Amino acid sequence: MTPKNHPRYESLLLREKIKDAYKEGYLSDSGMIAHGRGETFDYLLGEKTTESSRIAIDVSVAKLLLAENPVISINGNTTALVIDEIIQLAKLIPAKIEINLFYRNEKRIDTIENILNKKGYDNVLGTNKDELLYIKDIKNPRATASKNGIYSSDLILIPLEDGDRTEILVDSGKEVIAIDLNPLSRTSKKANITIVDNIIRVIPLMIEITKKFRSYNKEKLKDIIKDFSNKDNLKESLKCIDLNRI
Ligand code: ATP
Ligand code: MG
Repeated sequence: MTPKNHPRYESLLLREKIKDAYKEGYLSDSGMIAHGRGETFDYLLGEKTTESSRIAIDVSVAKLLLAENPVISINGNTTALVIDEIIQLAKLIPAKIEINLFYRNEKRIDTIENILNKKGYDNVLGTNKDELLYIKDIKNPRATASKNGIYSSDLILIPLEDGDRTEILVDSGKEVIAIDLNPLSRTSKKANITIVDNIIRVIPLMIEITKKFRSYNKEKLKDIIKDFSNKDNLKESLKCIDLNRI
């Protein structure tokens, strides 16, 4: 048990959640490495939501509210850290939830599906029973998607995704919102909108902003989106890494 007065208490608590998810079998060993990489960037960014992240979050929420068939993609890390908040956000938008794992196996999928079911969420896509198709007929395990979910969606929120998958989604004409603490990853550069921030801060903020933006009309939502440049925003995020902070 981590003592509450430990200076890195919050961070250690997240590590515990990641370790537990690994022990429960739904998070891969690579998922733990991915978390470690995230921690590094979070440290460098000051472990807070920056102004550029805030802008990207506003744009993302506006996009999600305007989309025809938005889908939130979840994996082991997302499930371990923010599954309650993801369910809340999906209901508010409304958006579908689809499981997508880098190392897909039946047991991991079933475990994540059961976690959602126990929380009263039954309509999860990408399960073992679901019909999966290859996006644009690309016969690559990173190109599978649920027929009624990502396969037919116009906008996908991908917290923690790898570059290959992001590339397939974007190149197939879908709009992609990524949440990734590394502003230099292929995912961050390839996505249409990248939120350079920690999912544990981003999803609760998205819930708050969705509640506010829900009453806006289409024109007002489009106004929020119109001047956004992902490249410029990524550059702003990089500037937030202050290497002289000592
Ligand atoms: P790419 O293939 O896009 O270049 P990668 O191979 O470097 O990416 P992966 O290991 O596939 O990255 O995905 C992990 C990414 O998720 C890392 O960039 C890491 O910074 C980020 N990440 C890890 N934990 C979190 C978190 N809690 N919130 C946001 N991002 C996170
Ligand atoms: Mg990768």
